[in-house]
Amino acid sequence: MSDKTLSIEYARELDRKDPLKQYREEFYIKPGTIYFDGNSLGLLSKRSEKSLLDMLESWKEFGIDGWLKGDHPWYYFSEKLGEKSAPLVGANPEEVIITGSTTVNLHQILSTFFKPEGKRTKILADELNFPSDIYAIKSQLRIQRLSPEEHLIQVKSRDGQTLLEEDIITSMTDEVAIAVLPSVLYRSGQILDMEKLTKAAHERGILIAFDLCHSIGSIPHALSDWDVDFAFWCTYKHLNGGPGAVGGLYVNKKHFKNADPGLAGWFSSKKEKQFDMEHDLTRASDAGSLQIGTPHLLSAAPLLGSLSMFEEAGMNQIREKSLKLTEYFMTLIDAELKKFNFTVANPRNEQQRGGHIFLEHEEAARICKALKANGVIPDYRSPNGIRLAPVALYNTFEEVWQVVQLLKKIMEEEEYKKFENKRDVVA
Ligand SMILES: *Cc1c(COP(=O)(O)O)cnc(C)c1O
Repeated sequence: MSDKTLSIEYARELDRKDPLKQYREEFYIKPGTIYFDGNSLGLLSKRSEKSLLDMLESWKEFGIDGWLKGDHPWYYFSEKLGEKSAPLVGANPEEVIITGSTTVNLHQILSTFFKPEGKRTKILADELNFPSDIYAIKSQLRIQRLSPEEHLIQVKSRDGQTLLEEDIITSMTDEVAIAVLPSVLYRSGQILDMEKLTKAAHERGILIAFDLCHSIGSIPHALSDWDVDFAFWCTYKHLNGGPGAVGGLYVNKKHFKNADPGLAGWFSSKKEKQFDMEHDLTRASDAGSLQIGTPHLLSAAPLLGSLSMFEEAGMNQIREKSLKLTEYFMTLIDAELKKFNFTVANPRNEQQRGGHIFLEHEEAARICKALKANGVIPDYRSPNGIRLAPVALYNTFEEVWQVVQLLKKIMEEEEYKKFENKRDVVA
């Protein structure tokens, strides 16, 4: 590595050449901080602020008539956001609905499409997934009076950080009814090959659902082309929809005929029928049937502004910059932090590398606290992980450079020893 590429001037040069650089101006970034936690909670943009204020304005102006009046009638808002989210997952507009949350949408998918029958009574997941998904799967099994000990298969990781597609496929036995897997693992950032896994599942008569929490807004998807059955995600991470923003749900159109909601409510209705107030549900004929009750409009509104940025910038350009940021990050880590016992635990190759860097260190908890004391917002993952997400729409190459320099200073000067090696309540 030449000295030139390790210099701050080189980082600034990369920023000057960045085709997405103007988007940073659209976000609220606290002066004096480097925000590398956009994969846990994305930042507020001016466009999201505006679309939220527009929503409040329509309430102010129209009262109950806001359901049908104004630029964005509330009655059709979830469908409209679904349509605008469809390109991000590579789906048809009617296959996507913005509703619920990650966990609720997984419950809805399982309660609608998990039909244990004969020998096929099991759900396939993995041992590295986010706990909420596993809790949801176990509770859905219990509702069906199936014991999770017997009916939940969790594919093991060989290295504790990543999964091998071969191991997942080997677990796809004729006892599995549905597989629920992450697109990008939340710790190591590994991308699973969704196309390959879907093909293998279908060859074995298994349905497949993906949790896109860590991939939506970070990498492109082609769910329709890959023939994925179901997907669900949150919108507050890379999509910058705000804390508690409404989630997303995708249903392949071939399943519309079986989409009688397991968890039904009046918003599962066909729009024209809903206000007939009948006690027999006439459900929507598309992904909309998986809605339950009144949409959380104030928590959905910021997404409208945010999605317009993704539409403009395009996922391919976003992914291209993201890969450059993480590549540059790893180059600097390798060159500058060699003697401090960090392990880069995310996959290094582009095909499997998601949107964040995952560093392991036995002092991770207090290194994160020292980073925070220096104005850097990382994400600590118990017991020894530091997630650092340079986000394409608002982070810079210079920030990556600065974070590596800070890590070097924290280690060289043993600054981390001033803190306790213990996590906070929210970490
Ligand atoms: C963030 C995340 C969740 C969070 O679920 P919510 O219902 O949105 O709180 C679930 N699963 C994964 C994989 C996540 O990354």
